[in-house]
Amino acid sequence: MVQQPKVYAITVFDGDGIGPEIMAPTLDLLRHVAGSFGSFSFDFKHVPAGAGHFKDTGEALPKASIDAARAADAVLLSAMGLPSIRKPDGTEITPQIDLRFELDLYAGVRPVRVYPGQTTPLADPRAEQIDFVLIRESTEGLFAHMHEGQVHDDQEATETLRITRRVSEKLFDFAFRLATQRAKKFNRTAKVTCVDKANVFRAFWFFRSIFFERAKAFPEIEADAAYVDALAMWMVQKPWEFDVLVTENMFGDILSDLGAGIMGTLGLAPSADIGDDAAVFQPCHGSAPDIAGRGIANPLAMILSAAMMLEWLAAEHDDQDLAKAARLIDEAVGENVVAQRDLTADLGGAANTIDCAASVIANVDKRIVADGFSDKVA
Ligand code: NAD
Repeated sequence: MVQQPKVYAITVFDGDGIGPEIMAPTLDLLRHVAGSFGSFSFDFKHVPAGAGHFKDTGEALPKASIDAARAADAVLLSAMGLPSIRKPDGTEITPQIDLRFELDLYAGVRPVRVYPGQTTPLADPRAEQIDFVLIRESTEGLFAHMHEGQVHDDQEATETLRITRRVSEKLFDFAFRLATQRAKKFNRTAKVTCVDKANVFRAFWFFRSIFFERAKAFPEIEADAAYVDALAMWMVQKPWEFDVLVTENMFGDILSDLGAGIMGTLGLAPSADIGDDAAVFQPCHGSAPDIAGRGIANPLAMILSAAMMLEWLAAEHDDQDLAKAARLIDEAVGENVVAQRDLTADLGGAANTIDCAASVIANVDKRIVADGFSDKVA
């Protein structure tokens, strides 16, 4: 009897600006890989949200789209927002952030990795060893009351930061578990660093205290803490020494772009927003209105985010083929980047978005053949 493929329901947010340009070839890649393996397939459901939708309807993130995200096995989300489209209070719409609150996606996983042989803005040869994960708490911190800031009499503005024990404990446990997995993978001892500003703010002393409380449950892991300002400097001076960093929402927002900078471009920075019951995968970058509509955006951060989705689904559903597909995509991207093959302008190349993605698909095909799936490659 022919085995039917396992179907994964994926809710897709195409986004604004370059969002749809990088999403389309990413879905092509996923369909292609599914066709080659044969044991899994994807049911993509496109739902509206974003600045364009807000402009047309007055709604940035419809309830039906949230419900579709909640019902899916996983969510793929491309960049959202446009600086030209703002609310009356001057801020932008932020459905990509609102969704994290709706689905309680407290752990924003942002890998910062340099492929061996890849050129980066850092001249130090040890830059090749950079491989750490920044975990950005994504449901509270300075974003907890993000729609409630006040400006008083045009003289004073206030915002509120919130840290809770409930979320912090889950966040730190997530960080320690991830570090344990990485230690196994790399055959080394694990280290988790809490990044905060505990010298000045009571909220961050609270955050750090909970971190060291939770660390006691993971005695095999080295746990330390650093102030965010010093850590920003070390991210440039010695990022190869980091393993897992865990931090508050706003600090994580800023440091993850610094991480992208040391990889050479935001176009190589993927992310996963993980909760207890749901997960959303999206590039770290925004909608890049300065290059939107020209077909030159780098699709690799979106593709690597999709690979993270496959890896997460593989673990959730114990699906070894998905895990293998994730690995093959990641290896293909790495090889293309190191060989400087068919890269977009942000990485010094001359390829357009479609050709860059097509080159990854061709490389994945080559790897599938080498792995013994040759009869299934289209
Ligand atoms: P951005 O990340 O869109 O762009 C910053 C710079 O990086 C630009 O020069 C851009 O051209 C470049 N860049 C980004 N992604 C690229 C890619 N894939 N390929 C090549 N170059 C790329 O940040 P911004 O300009 O500050 O923000 C633009 C809009 O995106 C704003 O409306 C902002 O609110 C929104 N935004 C959304 C998200 C998200 O959806 N997760 C994240 C950040 C910003």
